[in-house]
Amino acid sequence: MPEGDTILRAALRIRPVLEGRVPDEIRAPQPRHAADRWPQRLAGRRVTAVDTHGKHLFLRFEDDLALHSHLRMTGAWAVYPRGARWRRAPRRAWLVVRAGDREVVEFDGPVLELMTAARARFDQRLRALGPDLLADGFAPEAFLRRLRADDQTRPIGDALLDQRNVAGIGNIWKAEGCWGAGVDPWRPVGAVADEEAVAIVADARPRMLAAARASGPGERPERRVYGRAGMPCPRCGATIRARGQGDDARTTWWCPGCQR
Ligand SMILES: [Zn+2]
Repeated sequence: MPEGDTILRAALRIRPVLEGRVPDEIRAPQPRHAADRWPQRLAGRRVTAVDTHGKHLFLRFEDDLALHSHLRMTGAWAVYPRGARWRRAPRRAWLVVRAGDREVVEFDGPVLELMTAARARFDQRLRALGPDLLADGFAPEAFLRRLRADDQTRPIGDALLDQRNVAGIGNIWKAEGCWGAGVDPWRPVGAVADEEAVAIVADARPRMLAAARASGPGERPERRVYGRAGMPCPRCGATIRARGQGDDARTTWWCPGCQR
């Protein structure tokens, strides 16, 4: 599943193409959206901002209109030179926004909706989101308040995936952040000190930002436990383990040697 860094990365690529411009063409090729008339409703309107909150991305238009997207497990954003071959089949495109010689494409988008800014402010799902870990003004106190209001018997690894506690963390950064802070992802939230909880997000945040801004795979932060079951821990040499965690049994990776 794309995590916050992947969504921010998409926004950073889309922004120079669309922000401040009136798109030359907007298409919503899926029959499901034919009745929504997005091309007509957005015609002639300037894109005022491209922003993100956790795993959500918003294309904001004049007159307080916003296209809201969430990629869930399958979706992807891409930017192509006009006429270039796409990496997914054209029938999988849900949204195509062209400006000049560039096309911004959303593929396989399970959540794609046009809303007014007022509706976005009152949308239950969006209002429930915790602080965006990758926002400029991210404040760990807001995360801590929400974490302490959550079920304290829940394993910390599970609580970190709950977007109401902190928005943007997924399976990769949950595992990596817990390792970075030396915290066992199975430990109940109530047994994790404030400083430890903050250390988890403080480890993940700069790595996620680096991943969002990396120009190539070589610049991405290395993974220390994620996907490394059976391999030695880079810190203590113990064998890294993996097991399903939480209601969705999402696999978590951790080192039993140095994560307590
Ligand atoms: Zn270790």
